[in-house]
Amino acid sequence: MYRKNAWNKYEDKTPVMEFGEAYKQFISYGKTERLVVKEAVALLKEKGFVDGEDVASIKPGDKLYFVNRNKNVAAFIIGKKPIGEGIRILGAHIDSPRLDWKEHPFYEDHDFAYADTHYYGGVKKYQWVTIPLALHGVICKKDGSTVEVNIGEDPSDPVVGITDLLIHLAQDQLQKPGAKIIEGEALDVSLGSIPLAEGEKDAVKANILKILKEKYGVEEEDFLSAEIEVTPAGPARDYGLDRSMVAGYGHDDRVCAYTSLRAVLDTEEVETTACCILVDKEEVGSIGATGAQSLFFENVVAKLLQKAGDPHPVFATRMCFENSKMLSSDVSAGYDPLYAGVNDPKNAAYFGQGIVFNKYLGRGGKGGSNDANPEYYAWIRNVVDSANVNWQNAELGKVDQGGGGTIAYILGNYNMNVIDAGIPVHNMHAPMEIVSKVDVYEAYLGYKAFLQAE
Ligand code: MN
Ligand code: MN
Repeated sequence: MYRKNAWNKYEDKTPVMEFGEAYKQFISYGKTERLVVKEAVALLKEKGFVDGEDVASIKPGDKLYFVNRNKNVAAFIIGKKPIGEGIRILGAHIDSPRLDWKEHPFYEDHDFAYADTHYYGGVKKYQWVTIPLALHGVICKKDGSTVEVNIGEDPSDPVVGITDLLIHLAQDQLQKPGAKIIEGEALDVSLGSIPLAEGEKDAVKANILKILKEKYGVEEEDFLSAEIEVTPAGPARDYGLDRSMVAGYGHDDRVCAYTSLRAVLDTEEVETTACCILVDKEEVGSIGATGAQSLFFENVVAKLLQKAGDPHPVFATRMCFENSKMLSSDVSAGYDPLYAGVNDPKNAAYFGQGIVFNKYLGRGGKGGSNDANPEYYAWIRNVVDSANVNWQNAELGKVDQGGGGTIAYILGNYNMNVIDAGIPVHNMHAPMEIVSKVDVYEAYLGYKAFLQAE
């Protein structure tokens, strides 16, 4: 159903609300790409998926997953048709905007210990001050061991944060343009204020390092090879008096990651091999070994073809991709009545109207976008309408307002059919983003229908 409010479809809203509960749990735990991979693997194992690296040969009905450097995962249900005839791919990203500790983060100033950060992805910097923040990540030591850091989620944990200037002294600050009110170098996290010993140089920093050493067995130098991500602290919550929405950190793009993953988890048998791939680094250009541009996915499909007995798996992978269909599962800018001017209302995504298709995104004349083929778009319209899924279309803002990108064009480069398909979000990239539970549910139903469609 095109452009209808999906809530009206559910006299009994229980399935929508229950799905929302499970999703809240998922994002409350999955604050980083590593944690999402961990959680995804646990859910996959529960449903009988096995590590593909441990399997010598595959047959229809087999369920496998492959993990790449703890930050990127691909899961497959092997279909009855040969893999070379193409696969169905649901691809989402699991990195979200945040603040990363620098390699050399620690310093002290006037009896405050700080961690210096470099923000990750597109953030409105002024949104990240005066809120409780948590620390998540890993510290990798020279002896080959890795320590996991998780501070600020347990209600008994301390939180950290970044200060802002009091309004009383902010006359000059408030004259600055929004992008300059808080500068990137001022996004330094307060860690503590108790000196270790009187008269010692940087005694507060020394005390913080002592606490970290006691807790994690690490020295200051170990933070050179660490990934400490500063994220909003605390769980996702119901939002709105009617509990119709979820407020949480990282809906972009874990909401599409979760719905895509659940679509695969809740599918038993398929004609065409089904895949969910969750990638890292989308917010910084899909670069690196764990981003969508990595050869990981190509290699994994080649491994599958080899395990299926194909004598030329690398060539067969190319042909498989040409025959494949993909939904690039990523969020859309939800129409916000308080900021109506940035959209073309005819081509905007509305809360409650279900899964959103973006034929193109891009900026400045569709620049950098994957402009999906209308032949493919027609096919997917038929898929969602046949499954009674509510759906809508959108572009990202009105012409020349701005724009953005997804991983769609990267898979499009393999000459596969790709269209962006996701969920509308308010406050995108803010520490607290909002989605509608019914859009989450419709996206899940749409993704499931896509995996089964002829
Ligand atoms: Mn995204
Ligand atoms: Mn984003």
